[in-house]
Amino acid sequence: MTINRVLITGGAGFIGSHLTDLFLERDCHVVVMDNLLTGSIQNIEHLFGNPRFQFFKHDVTEFIHVPEKIDAILHFASPASPIDYQEYPIQTLKVGSLGTHKALGLAKACGARFLLASTSEVYGDPLVHPQPESYWGNVNPIGVRGVYDEAKRFAEALTLAYHRTHGVDTRIVRIFNTYGPRMRLNDGRALPNFICQALKGEPLTVFGDGSQTRSFCHVSDLIDGIWRLLRSDVVEPVNLGNPDEIPIIDFAREVISMTNSNSGLTNLPLPEDDPKVRQPDITLAKSLLDWSPKVSLEEGLRSTIPYFESALSAVEETPVNFTES
Ligand code: UDP
Repeated sequence: MTINRVLITGGAGFIGSHLTDLFLERDCHVVVMDNLLTGSIQNIEHLFGNPRFQFFKHDVTEFIHVPEKIDAILHFASPASPIDYQEYPIQTLKVGSLGTHKALGLAKACGARFLLASTSEVYGDPLVHPQPESYWGNVNPIGVRGVYDEAKRFAEALTLAYHRTHGVDTRIVRIFNTYGPRMRLNDGRALPNFICQALKGEPLTVFGDGSQTRSFCHVSDLIDGIWRLLRSDVVEPVNLGNPDEIPIIDFAREVISMTNSNSGLTNLPLPEDDPKVRQPDITLAKSLLDWSPKVSLEEGLRSTIPYFESALSAVEETPVNFTES
């Protein structure tokens, strides 16, 4: 199947905007749709003027129409950091349910391939470690993280229902912790928090005792995997992430060392339902997509820290606008 023209919902977000760049580099036309709730025009402003790029500020939970033919839809719209989806719980549930419904409806109507951005959060606080795609998860549906976890679980179910019932050509990627340039400084996740705190000489806020683990994947590896998945014939969900697992307290120390910071650590309470471990089993991605991450955490941090340095200084340099109401 030739993929010439794609729609990326959430294309002004962190991962969506990197995907947009990738598809443009690979000679596709890209239509980005984003309501800018957590996405930002800054992530795509370098693309305005490119004749193969179009942007629509639109909430995908409302009816979606795109002029001209679309070959593929990549559904990435959603708040995705714990702070964001707890601030916007209803929007998160709506974009995962109604937004996925609208995006699937458009895929069905125009015969487009559909790729859902799902998440390691479908495994909740996992009792199986590392997590293979066959694991059904351990999710608290009514906890504070349930709005995101259940929205994505519903989105996966709906995607496969459209595949089975309407024959829509679908793909599902389960994305594990990912980092890189364009993360929001204040999205509340461990990596932006730690790097910004270290750069400012403030104590790094370790939640709980920091023994909980995560595995961090550089965004360049992730989007390469998504590109491969979209062009494959793999309908079953596929984990994409870096299996290199690290306790959060060690990660905080690593950030302090790599930023040459004098910061110390401070312990804050562990948030409700915070997963104790997380590591992707990427056997499927390796065998079906010939994919595995290439960027080590040290290398990825080295190339990401300068982004945070300049983003922080841009914030500091932004003059206060006293005329703003
Ligand atoms: N965390 C932390 N300090 C922070 C932010 C997060 O210790 O300032 C912890 C958080 O409790 C979790 C891990 O770091 O155990 C990763 O959190 P993040 O918000 O990055 O995403 P999650 O993997 O939980 O979705």
